[in-house]
Amino acid sequence: NDEEASARAAAASADRGGSTIFDKIIAKEIPSTIVYEDEKVLAFKDINPQAPVHVLVIPKYRDALTQLSKAEPRHSEILGNLLYAAKIVAEKEGILDGFRVVINDGPSACQSVYHLHLHVLGGRQMAWPPG
Ligand code: IMP
Repeated sequence: NDEEASARAAAASADRGGSTIFDKIIAKEIPSTIVYEDEKVLAFKDINPQAPVHVLVIPKYRDALTQLSKAEPRHSEILGNLLYAAKIVAEKEGILDGFRVVINDGPSACQSVYHLHLHVLGGRQMAWPPG
């Protein structure tokens, strides 16, 4: 459908290095609806929600990892922080009875923003397999 085609097009044309729109969200230069924040991670509502609850969880530090496939042993702590923050988000959003955490990595997975992020989705029955 159209939405899938535009996600593929966005992924194919994504800038795969340098700063992203998420740096501006971290700097509060562009607004976002923040769900959770601590010194290491920021969680905010996705602008194009794919479920009643759709929150992105990102690392806040500068020069963040662009994508999971670039992770090194030194990133293990922040990866754990992100996943734990996903649980806090699910709790805050009232979806602990069932939610999904997704990482899109690379063009084949329709990654469109090259600043590592977890999608936390819920509030409806999720289907399996995902598209
Ligand atoms: P990806 O396709 O896994 O890279 O996910 C990027 C996500 O960022 C998409 O779900 C977009 O809807 C979302 N997004 C892009 N720009 C913004 C924004 O300015 N605010 C909130 N979400 C955004």
